[in-house]
Amino acid sequence: MKNLISRLFGRNKRTPAHAMGMPPEMLKGLITSLEKTKPIELDCEDIFARLDEYVDAVLRGDDINTMMPDMKHHLEMCRDCFQEYEILVSAIEAAG
Ligand SMILES: [Zn+2]
Repeated sequence: MKNLISRLFGRNKRTPAHAMGMPPEMLKGLITSLEKTKPIELDCEDIFARLDEYVDAVLRGDDINTMMPDMKHHLEMCRDCFQEYEILVSAIEAAG
């Protein structure tokens, strides 16, 4: 958390948040929302770039939950990527 705060406020680590015009409750809310955000959030481009790798792993029967939990999470949430995933799986299955 110390690192996070120094990243947010740069070199002025000693400047209290309220002296910078930010009410403490706002600061608290900001930090809470940062904590809730997952550190690595993949976007659709990242998913697409690694989709063949992911499909290979699924078809091999690898443990996706351990190996690529972020990919799995995204595919569960994102319809577009899931469709790409299904297309790729059926293409690979059709190819043999
Ligand atoms: Zn997506």
